[in-house]
Amino acid sequence: MDWADTPEQAAFREDVRTFIKERFPESYRPDLESEQSVEPEDIPGYNWPADRRSDDPERREAATEWAAALAERGWVAPHWPKQYGGAGLGVLEQFIFNEEMADARVPMVGGIGVSLVGPTLIAYGTEEQQQEHLPRILSGEIAWAQGFSEPAAGSDLAALQMRATREDDEYVLNGQKIWTSGAQHADWMCAIVRTNPDAETKHRGITFLVFDTDTKGISVRPIVDMTDQKPFNETFFEDVRVPVRQRVGDENRGWYVAMAMLDFERSGIGGAVGYRKALEDLIEYVRGHEASPSCQSGAVRTDWHAATRLEMADRYIETDILKNFALRTASIQARDEIPNYEASVNKLFGSEVHQALARTGTKTLGLYGGIWSRADAPMQAFFQRDYVGSAAHTIFSGSSEIQRNVIATRGLGLPRG
Ligand SMILES: Cc1cc2nc3c(=O)[nH]c(=O)nc-3n(C[C@H](O)[C@H](O)[C@H](O)COP(=O)(O)OP(=O)(O)OC[C@H]3O[C@@H](n4cnc5c(N)ncnc54)[C@H](O)[C@@H]3O)c2cc1C
Repeated sequence: MDWADTPEQAAFREDVRTFIKERFPESYRPDLESEQSVEPEDIPGYNWPADRRSDDPERREAATEWAAALAERGWVAPHWPKQYGGAGLGVLEQFIFNEEMADARVPMVGGIGVSLVGPTLIAYGTEEQQQEHLPRILSGEIAWAQGFSEPAAGSDLAALQMRATREDDEYVLNGQKIWTSGAQHADWMCAIVRTNPDAETKHRGITFLVFDTDTKGISVRPIVDMTDQKPFNETFFEDVRVPVRQRVGDENRGWYVAMAMLDFERSGIGGAVGYRKALEDLIEYVRGHEASPSCQSGAVRTDWHAATRLEMADRYIETDILKNFALRTASIQARDEIPNYEASVNKLFGSEVHQALARTGTKTLGLYGGIWSRADAPMQAFFQRDYVGSAAHTIFSGSSEIQRNVIATRGLGLPRG
């Protein structure tokens, strides 16, 4: 397979590169202490939904300026059709766009509003819902959170119990969601709720709703994670009234809307590029420094241990493989087919490469690898923080065990266990 750019793709790539060089605000630099979003493609240090509301006016303005520059080209939502304000890019152009954004280490904007909610509303929303939400997602006026998981419904999402009882033209919501990423910064939320507990199968009694997070009866409680940040929340609902017109799709058919939403996940090229960049940073650091004591096999040795070099070579190969997996997924989509177990291979392998790279980086730094403070550790403690942060990667967006089940049954044709 020839992955080289066609002349048109090469010209598009150059256009994106020039645009980033000319339009990315110099003052919009990574905030290393910011709470990270959970998307693996996100550039470390940026969290656009939070940045747009930052207490620091310079940061706030720069985040807004970057969104406005992207909006001029429809590049806030490169994958949305043009009639809805996107750029209507083909799959391979989207791939190139994402690759260049990650390569330049500049953030995408819009969060899950752009990546997940917008495409879902375009496919399943009413005209009224599209008119109300799409322009505000594109302008960055509203940020979204996704309320799917519950304490007893994660991998088995259809087991969700949060109730929505119909009262005339409203649903009354009671129950709890958990792990709701970014809910503390979000203005709106989409959620799946149980409207018919007596349905024939548990998938059939579920409805998809969207609502303002300021609606009376909603309380959001941030959860502190191992990195001492608050990327996600517990979200509680007590007699929360949501108008029926805010339902997306039919009553009791929300499961299918939710599954379609999960299909809009990105191809993952940003992850592959980001990991390669981090590895290159590590190699550059190592070239300019002597090995730390724990990496030396003897007191007088100052070269890097051969095992460290071999590990880095492994990571280099793996990041190449990951890029090729992402290209395979994109090429399937470019043929108008839906990636199936191939997307699971990407997710599974990508999360393992992420964790292995963080481990290699931390180990390479020897005793420095135990220092958490950015001011005192090499490379601003990126790898040791990523070592802890990447633990979540084999859980979110479908855990590794679930991906392996998909690969086994749909990819290898093995019987269900
Ligand atoms: C950083 C992060 C951000 C998240 N953001 C969001 C969000 O914004 N919105 C949202 O709704 N949710 C979010 N989640 C929740 C996420 O979707 C769930 O954590 C995930 O689906 C796993 O569910 P669970 O945690 O309930 O684990 P469980 O489903 O209880 O799984 C526990 C363990 O059992 C294994 N297991 C479960 N079923 C099987 C099976 N059939 N075969 C083999 N092994 C199995 C799992 O792999 C796992 O190891 C987030 C999670 C994380 C970590």
